Amino acid sequence: MQTDYIIVGCGLAGLSFAQILKQKQKSFVVIDNNQNKASLVAGGLYNPVMLKRFTLAWLADKQIPLAEQFYAEIEKELQISFDEKKPVRRLIHSAEEQNNWFQALDKPKVGQFLSDELIEFNHDQITCEYGLGEVHNSGRLKTQTLISGFIKNLEAHDRYLDQSFDHDQMIIEQDVISYKNITAKNIVFCEGFGMLKNPFFNYLPLAGNKGELLLIETSVLNIDFILKSNMFFIPLGGQHYLVGATYNREDLSPKPSEKGKSEIEKFLKRMLGDDYKVIEQRAGIRPTVKDRRPLVGTHPKHPKLALLNGMGSRGVLIAPYTAQILFDHLEFGKVIPEEMNLKRFN
Ligand SMILES: Cc1cc2nc3c(=O)[nH]c(=O)nc-3n(C[C@H](O)[C@H](O)[C@H](O)COP(=O)(O)OP(=O)(O)OC[C@H]3O[C@@H](n4cnc5c(N)ncnc54)[C@H](O)[C@@H]3O)c2cc1C
Repeated sequence: MQTDYIIVGCGLAGLSFAQILKQKQKSFVVIDNNQNKASLVAGGLYNPVMLKRFTLAWLADKQIPLAEQFYAEIEKELQISFDEKKPVRRLIHSAEEQNNWFQALDKPKVGQFLSDELIEFNHDQITCEYGLGEVHNSGRLKTQTLISGFIKNLEAHDRYLDQSFDHDQMIIEQDVISYKNITAKNIVFCEGFGMLKNPFFNYLPLAGNKGELLLIETSVLNIDFILKSNMFFIPLGGQHYLVGATYNREDLSPKPSEKGKSEIEKFLKRMLGDDYKVIEQRAGIRPTVKDRRPLVGTHPKHPKLALLNGMGSRGVLIAPYTAQILFDHLEFGKVIPEEMNLKRFN
């Protein structure tokens, strides 16, 4: 089989790159072993504002419009629905935070995303003296629906191989990459935290940060927006909510942990008392980099080998944006900005 691209990995990064190839009518095949896919575990939130100090998330003003259009096109093309336009509302904890919210409103880039009024929230369990601040252009992707729909479509067009990519079997020639019976002009590795097993790119400082979420059932919350206090409550419909997430740089096993569960339950008890039931616990490893920027670019010695990784805790917004930058680089030689270019670690 001859193809323009091989993509390894079909999480948010791999599928974003694949979607661009589809749009540009390039041929490609995706290889994925469906192991420890962070994108399946993710809360799926997109939100342009850092909710601790009400600052703009990295390049979010550019990423938001692009992502909205990008996911809308996939929904239309695949005839599925996974983008829930539910707003994120931040519980304001003090007069100082209230003041910070209104100060941020006047800042040029972030202000456009913040509600200019705080919303009253009267709730039997949750104390809210200072109101809720709403973040515009925020919402949630049902990533499981997106990924399964996307893979189904790839399979229908013979573009998907459900297997582990064995780096030892790849042959790098002058103009092509050969892998088993496939020859491709380029290969793009989108392996998430699995990159550490890739002998060509594991020199890069991908650190990893474990995240855990609880799926709970509760009859007392009754909200249809995404509530952010110290953690998120994400409504899933009925009495079900996802709650989390945790951040842990030490334990990098993909399995749910007791520590993660008790951290979330501590928060839950404070918010809801005992009025909830844990149904499921989920864990995954975010592919994070120490300078909190993605890893985009080509191998220093083998320009046919490319990497799209380091999505950190914001893969929903960063993946479509960086996938476009990598495509423009590989096809048209456009420069990859220094701050995300993996060459910063050469
Ligand atoms: C608990 C939790 C909550 C999160 N919440 C959010 C959120 O609300 N919003 C947000 O934007 N981000 C969130 N994130 C972060 C987000 O999940 C990541 O940024 C994103 O999923 C990374 O996508 P990826 O495609 O790089 O990696 P992954 O989704 O991990 O995909 C990598 C894929 O590569 C495959 N692979 C690896 N090696 C090989 C190989 N050798 N052969 C074949 N296949 C291989 C794996 O099987 C996997 O399918 C969260 C993460 C966690 C853990």
